[in-house]
Amino acid sequence: MQFFAWNEKQHPISAPHALKHKDYVCPECARPVRLRSGPHRQPHFFHLESHSDCRQHQKSAEHLQTQFHLMSLLPEGECCMERPFPSLGRIADLTWESERIVFEVQCSPLPLQEAKERCVDYRSAGFEIVWILHQKTFNRRRMSAAESWLRQNPCYFTDISKEGKGKIYDQYDIDEGASRLFKGPPLEVSLAHPVHKSPLIASPLPRLLQHRFSSWPLSFQGDFLDRWLKDPHPKESALHLLQLEERYLHPKKVKRALFPSFRNVYTRLLTALLKKLGA
Ligand SMILES: [Zn+2]
Repeated sequence: MQFFAWNEKQHPISAPHALKHKDYVCPECARPVRLRSGPHRQPHFFHLESHSDCRQHQKSAEHLQTQFHLMSLLPEGECCMERPFPSLGRIADLTWESERIVFEVQCSPLPLQEAKERCVDYRSAGFEIVWILHQKTFNRRRMSAAESWLRQNPCYFTDISKEGKGKIYDQYDIDEGASRLFKGPPLEVSLAHPVHKSPLIASPLPRLLQHRFSSWPLSFQGDFLDRWLKDPHPKESALHLLQLEERYLHPKKVKRALFPSFRNVYTRLLTALLKKLGA
């Protein structure tokens, strides 16, 4: 379903603000679209001539709502929805021009090769890419090859619904191979506030932070790395998370070392710690 189009001034307009019987332009294929709405129908645009090569009418409602949500978070006038990159033969979901960031929303499964090519292409055009993966496909226990690989890039999750309710979030998690062994609570991320790479902290770090320090070119306010850098007791938190990793990555060793009653206390302590980081 298509929720936005361009008006005659080439400004994006959302379906609830559009008028019936008026011609608008599809931002992807530049063909004419019109509004369809009714008492039992969510307002949306439809193409006057049907054709299969336009991605707009293949995009899910969650995808479009996430694009709108992103647009509403970022500074007005600095962002561009459906920005064409003719030399790459690509259209980015959303760009933040002054920060040179491309936001790519992904709701459906993605082949690994395509994920890699998109990153290489946008970087060659001077843009960093930030992925927003929808939890209806991603953030499950089993990770696809693309999702595992995308963890090397700035990459967050969303639960935004068809009605546009939800958030963009990060989380602390522990993975091994294609499995996600542990998930912490969702940490809401403020995408309007990029945080550029800071120097690596010398103290022992949980695996997730080691990976991010070495591979993410930028991060955002409210994400796990940012909360970590603001934690008044990073050494204590690191110790707890390193123990948590040990427990999930080497469960047999830890089981032998801990009595069952102590294990419960230990889990409660760690849950409290992760809640504190999520606060
Ligand atoms: Zn179109």
